[in-house]
Amino acid sequence: MKSLSYLNKYFVKYKWRLMLGVIFIVITNIFNVLKPEYFGDSVDRLKNWKAESDNDLLLEALTVGSVYLVFALMSGIFLFFTRQMIIIVSRHIEYDLKNEIYNHYQNLDYTFYKKNSTGDLMNRISEDVSQVRMYLGPGIMYTVNLAILCILAITNMILISPYLTLFVLLPLPLMSYLIYKVSSRINKISTEVQKEQSNMTTLVQESFSGIRVVKAYSRTGEIYDKFAGTSDAYKAKNMKLVRVNSFFMPTVYILIGISTILCIYIGGLFYYDKSITLGEIIKFIFYVNMLTWPFASVGWVISIIQRAAASQTRINEFLKTKPSIINPTSAPFTFKGKIEFKNVSYSYPNSGIEALKNVSFVLEKGQTLGIIGRTGSGKSTILKLLTRQMDPSSGSIEIDGVDLREINLSDFKDQIGSVPQEVFLFSDTIKNNLIFGTIHSSATQLELEDVCRKAHVLQNIQDFPDSFETYLGERGVNLSGGQKQRVSIARALIRKPKLLLLDDCLSAVDTETEEIILRNLTEQKIDGTIVVSHRISSIRNADFILTLDMGEVVEKGSHSELIDQNGLYAQFYQKQLLEEKQSPEFED
Ligand code: ATP
Ligand code: MG
Repeated sequence: MKSLSYLNKYFVKYKWRLMLGVIFIVITNIFNVLKPEYFGDSVDRLKNWKAESDNDLLLEALTVGSVYLVFALMSGIFLFFTRQMIIIVSRHIEYDLKNEIYNHYQNLDYTFYKKNSTGDLMNRISEDVSQVRMYLGPGIMYTVNLAILCILAITNMILISPYLTLFVLLPLPLMSYLIYKVSSRINKISTEVQKEQSNMTTLVQESFSGIRVVKAYSRTGEIYDKFAGTSDAYKAKNMKLVRVNSFFMPTVYILIGISTILCIYIGGLFYYDKSITLGEIIKFIFYVNMLTWPFASVGWVISIIQRAAASQTRINEFLKTKPSIINPTSAPFTFKGKIEFKNVSYSYPNSGIEALKNVSFVLEKGQTLGIIGRTGSGKSTILKLLTRQMDPSSGSIEIDGVDLREINLSDFKDQIGSVPQEVFLFSDTIKNNLIFGTIHSSATQLELEDVCRKAHVLQNIQDFPDSFETYLGERGVNLSGGQKQRVSIARALIRKPKLLLLDDCLSAVDTETEEIILRNLTEQKIDGTIVVSHRISSIRNADFILTLDMGEVVEKGSHSELIDQNGLYAQFYQKQLLEEKQSPEFED
């Protein structure tokens, strides 16, 4: 339950609305209690009525009915205001909390995202926040309502007859308990139902997004069987839920019935003793019925609060996660062009794989560095460390002679144009995808065309009927692998970067286009370029090249120097020459 105290700051934020909400609950209940009081008194009055004429009696009955109606109306109106206040506050807090969590997510670093699954991140911001809202809105409203109604109604009942009050209220706590049990069970099964549902959604979503693979391997039958399996499991859980749910209403009605019978029977005995009037028995029946739902809600509210507490614990767990990489300073930073790796080693904490071992190199202003190596040799890891997605396990990276951990990270990143190995484009227009790369979220048509020309993708884009407004992604156009890579290069160039990082991003274009793009890049004023590739052709013109093998730099030098060394690099070169001869390249 402690976890819920995190939400107190929001109660403070919305204190006036909440207070008004509570005042409205009080007013609603005053009118609610006036109903049986007035009705009971009227019954006694009418019973002893010495009517002068039938008309008189009719008039009196009409008056009683109208007054009763006014009370009911007033209590309804204030109930409306109560809900307007409290439920709306709960929606506001839900909104604030979601924003807070999302904002926090954005600040967390790469390692956090590696550790937690996307499903988990989504669940906490949607499902868990909804659970918490149930506590903030209905949970609080019903609790306050019960407290106030109890005070008003039970005081009136005790004033009439303490004994009768005791007898008729006896079954109510029992009802609260039973309903608590039933609700807990309902909640538990609902969670199971939700889990089955998300299994089903994941399966369906995956089979749709992977439909090409499914069709190509003609596995539709297997996918269908799998779906039928999860669908069955979902149905079975739902059946269980229906069974438990069916107990809910009968339990409530039986207990209301018992209270009413007690009220009539014992009240009747008191009536014969003349210690209670007929009107008072009627008041009691009203009160018992009035109290039933609030008492029933106790059990329900307790289970809501328990669920909310569990959800808030999960939310707090993420909110308390501190980003391991934070911007250390707000002092402005301008990159001048020198990068130095000093004995950098890095092990991935989740897999324990030592991806880099004692890597050292210096890249001077204006130079291009090429990195080559087998798959898994640590090339991308070097770029991730340079953009500070994580910090080295040992050793240091210096930018212009200052440790990367001490410089203004957001300034530094603003000056980097990075093309990651796995191209990711948003489901949006080509133009917006490119503008995403800019720092001030705007670009002129001329700028757009210029970077696309350099990335050798302008012609492709102009061939689409909608040109730059072409929509990409699920419901739009699918670009080819090579086109995607080139749009992603254009996105990096539009930032006018001082440091350009290309992670194997020319792998899907032919060598001729590759050459054109690389030549175009030399036109840009870039203070440093790092090109990671499997292909010699991408890096042969670099000022110097690192050959990586299992996380270690095994060779360092220019293309011709490395060929002369006749080591791993020369091996790659020979092999690629051979392959080129055997398979002539086609246009992308
Ligand atoms: P490729 O040419 O295939 O892109 P690479 O040289 O870029 O390979 P890296 O991605 O740097 O290789 O990976 C180096 C090693 O670190 C590999 O053994 C890989 O399995 C491991 N590794 C990479 N990313 C992670 C990660 N997020 N968690 C755990 N291990 C990782
Ligand atoms: Mg890589």
